Amino acid sequence: MGIPGSGLAKGLAVTLRTMTRKSHTAQYPDAQPELPPRTRGVIGLFEENCTVCMLCARECPDWCIYIDSHKETVPPAAPGGRERSRNVLDRFAIDFALCMYCGICIEVCPFDALFWSPEFEYAETDIRELTHERDKLRDWMWTVPAPPALDPAAEEPKEIAAARKAADKLAAAEAAAAAEAAGADNDTPGDTPRGNGAAS
Ligand code: SF4
Ligand code: SF4
Repeated sequence: MGIPGSGLAKGLAVTLRTMTRKSHTAQYPDAQPELPPRTRGVIGLFEENCTVCMLCARECPDWCIYIDSHKETVPPAAPGGRERSRNVLDRFAIDFALCMYCGICIEVCPFDALFWSPEFEYAETDIRELTHERDKLRDWMWTVPAPPALDPAAEEPKEIAAARKAADKLAAAEAAAAAEAAGADNDTPGDTPRGNGAAS
């Protein structure tokens, strides 16, 4: 059996210890919290990259992404070619009242059209206002932090390696063509420099 009052003393000791520790509470909104740059605050839409593949809407566990689109016929690139059709985005909205910030939509997007922004100050008094339409989602893109710099020791991304190889090949072909043209100019009879015999 413990000493009477020891529990109370222990409790008071904990209270005293906590009182003397530095507080971690941020006095928001008077003081802005220091959030990590990759905080899941809100989702931004980079519309130009969106192909309306619907993958994000299908994978969203909360079914809170709404996409409408229509098909448009694109004329053939060359005469005699076939017409193609493409999806045109009419509506892209996310209901942040339902979103659980899992990030699945951003992970599955094959075209890098969705990004996390650390912005979180978009509370509303009307729940319907939490459905952000495409213009608002686009505006969030301005608050998306730049990606971290590449690791200098990392392997070159294959897209950059392929582009560099193609550029090198093109430069080599252009240099060879220029050298050939210069050689042809030198071989032209009219261009032959006159020697001593011509002067006499
Ligand atoms: S973060 Fe998750 S819940 Fe929110 S829209 Fe994306 S997939 Fe849906
Ligand atoms: S997954 Fe990406 S590209 Fe496909 S509809 Fe969603 S945002 Fe657009």
